[in-house]
Amino acid sequence: MKSTKVSVSNKNLREISPEEFKERLASKLDRHFEESVEEASKEDIFAALASMVRDGYSGKWRRTRIAESANGHKQAYYFSIEFLPGTLLKSNLLNLGWLDTAKEALADLGLDLDEIAAVEPDMALGNGGLGRLAAAFMDSLASTGYAGNGNGLRYKYGLFKQKFVNGYQKELPNDWLKQGDYWEVRRESKSVLVKFGGRVNMVDDHGWMTPQYEGCTVVRAVPYDVAMVGYHNGVANTLRLWDAEIAPEDELKYPSIADRRKIEDLTSILYPDDSNYDGRLLRLKQEYFFVSAGLQSIVNNFIKDYGEENLADFPKYVAVHINDTHPAMCVAELMRLLVDGHRMDWDEAWEITKETMSYTNHTIMAEAMEKWDVGMFSQLLPRLFDIVKEIDRRYAAGLEGKVSGDVIERTRIVKNGQIHMAHLAIIGSHSVNGVAALHTQLLETEVLSDFYQLYPDRFNNKTNGITLRRWIQIANPDLAKLLDKTIGNDWRFDSKEMLKFEKFYHDTATLTSLQQIKLANKQKLAKVIKDKTGVVVDPEAIFDVQVKRLHAYKRQTLKLLHVLKLYQDLKAGIDHPKRVVIFGAIAAPSYVFAKQVIKVINAVADLVNNDPDIKGKLKVVFLENYNVSLAEQIIPAADLSEQISTTTKEASGTSNMKLMANGALTVATMDGANIEIKDAVGSDNIFAFGLDKDEVYTYYANHSYHPRDLYESDPVLKKAVDALIDGTIPNCASEGRALYDAFLKDNEEFLVLADFEAYLKAQKLVEKVWQNPRQWAQMSLVNIAHSERFDADKTIERYASEIWNLDKVEFDAEKA
Ligand SMILES: *Cc1c(COP(=O)(O)O)cnc(C)c1O
Repeated sequence: MKSTKVSVSNKNLREISPEEFKERLASKLDRHFEESVEEASKEDIFAALASMVRDGYSGKWRRTRIAESANGHKQAYYFSIEFLPGTLLKSNLLNLGWLDTAKEALADLGLDLDEIAAVEPDMALGNGGLGRLAAAFMDSLASTGYAGNGNGLRYKYGLFKQKFVNGYQKELPNDWLKQGDYWEVRRESKSVLVKFGGRVNMVDDHGWMTPQYEGCTVVRAVPYDVAMVGYHNGVANTLRLWDAEIAPEDELKYPSIADRRKIEDLTSILYPDDSNYDGRLLRLKQEYFFVSAGLQSIVNNFIKDYGEENLADFPKYVAVHINDTHPAMCVAELMRLLVDGHRMDWDEAWEITKETMSYTNHTIMAEAMEKWDVGMFSQLLPRLFDIVKEIDRRYAAGLEGKVSGDVIERTRIVKNGQIHMAHLAIIGSHSVNGVAALHTQLLETEVLSDFYQLYPDRFNNKTNGITLRRWIQIANPDLAKLLDKTIGNDWRFDSKEMLKFEKFYHDTATLTSLQQIKLANKQKLAKVIKDKTGVVVDPEAIFDVQVKRLHAYKRQTLKLLHVLKLYQDLKAGIDHPKRVVIFGAIAAPSYVFAKQVIKVINAVADLVNNDPDIKGKLKVVFLENYNVSLAEQIIPAADLSEQISTTTKEASGTSNMKLMANGALTVATMDGANIEIKDAVGSDNIFAFGLDKDEVYTYYANHSYHPRDLYESDPVLKKAVDALIDGTIPNCASEGRALYDAFLKDNEEFLVLADFEAYLKAQKLVEKVWQNPRQWAQMSLVNIAHSERFDADKTIERYASEIWNLDKVEFDAEKA
């Protein structure tokens, strides 16, 4: 059948009229709640809107599904243990072309879309950057018109809710499904079974060694699908999240609620940590559960569309992406399905597997490298363990005599009683990518250099990106309008257009508008801060923002030392421009140091915010429960973006990109994507400082970091550090001491004190430029214009063409 390409550049920003919108809303409310708009609660209006939106995309969703299989499109499946979409109402409205109309129509009815949208709980199925990236990629896959789907877990509790009690972090359960998830569709008929434990006997069945499973636990995996709606292009892909249920044939085996709960608990919690490996059994179960369920459903689909006899063509139609090592078992599981399930010859299955799989590495930190104990792994997944061992055996045998025994030993998968998941992912994939240029370079030259020697062609870089639609069009509508006014609205369809904004560098009216927009966003955030914390902040002050997970390598501690230094100056009568330092950060519950940092920052905030001597020149605000929704409120109001990780430690970072897109100026170490931001905006439009990669590695190699020498020789540094233990900060003696001790250890890996002086210098320059508002606005404008470089749509175009080899979805005209 002839297929015609549907235009993806439908530039009608209003696909529905306000009148029609109001009518549909009224009829939804009438039908579902038997009430009028005037009577309806916010919750009911939200539910009615969500239902309208679902009606708006359901045809597109069905049509995309049909087109993807009927037209033989290759499909990518992005396997990730985390997805962090935040809320979906406004982004679905935007992508459908309804957002402006919805705002207007609701305003006509005396309603505020923002207030109604606030009813929706964040879909917080992730910790931070990794999960947010996965969600951004879902939006971009649909918006660029590729057949790309997500595969993950439907955690019944999302990431915990952070509360501060006495300045300490407390974790509360985040029961996000309680309010009902408006976007998911349970697809019972697509359920599959996943087996754990028991014993496997290999028996000869007509000459084929076939596994027989004995005494294993069978869990039913039920998919819940969420539509990922493309931007103005008629495409809607699927994010498939698996839930664990009792298998129907086992209902008698587990009669009690407690027994059932044990099975269902498999998907109840999201591990609340993103940078530390934690080898616990439940986590291993979760990983295998979504890997096996996802691959089974993909293989089933393939066979339905193309027939079992064409399995050799699998990689022509399917790409599976392993996002970090959590889904690395995909390699062994696909081998299992092909060899055991479809009696494919090992070598052929291996070629298919490698051609299907690709892998993204997200970290160089040793403590985050996943390894599983052979004992635990083989007990939980006996057949998979055999397959991993066989992959490992063949890998080693294949290199015998070609490379040194040392290289084989260093790179093999199973060694010293552990299974190295990154090795499995690399050996079983045709592509391995890092997430920023420096990160990929470090993978090639340091962390994975043995593999790079073996497989140079597999390695490539894909610098991360962000959903500009969410971070500008949704979070900063006034900035979006200014862009429309100056450069036209083509940028909403092609972010490259944003570069034209640079032409307004000398345009006083545009610069003034930028300043007014920022001020208005700061006034809004000031109100949020007042409501949430009681702290009153001046919107005219520098809004200095550090928002990201709390981790030693991200160095909230360096910002803290700067705050202490500013406070001490102000106490001593040394003046500084007014500044509000805003933190947002969640610590892993088991991460003692990170929680100590939170306590100290909160204690410093108490001290500073209530000291009349400093006349409100410095405020410190730590907002609770940083998540995507809060980010959408903070980021448009930021003047300064703190990206101050220890160079080499932050693989990419993405909040750096979101903040620049909203006109914040970056204070940056030359780490991760900060380097590429500097390349984009030029060194005059960023405050770069600190150790470079070679200096950091020199410290490590020579053991030449001696923080006590720095502390003794720099009185300013000493005074700031001493504040932690000399009683300056009330109510945190033990936490202050812990930080103090950490800073002064010779093996302090994050080199906080080594960067202190350079950081102060960078901040001096910040203060100087702040005195010149026109220059500040110009730098801000350049940053906004160049944020186009980090548009996730473009990142996805590179994944699609260079790794997955995808085509854009085409619809059959007849079926459309
Ligand atoms: C973007 C984002 C992150 C990642 O921030 P980094 O500074 O790149 O670590 C984490 N959490 C949320 C809620 C985000 O939106």
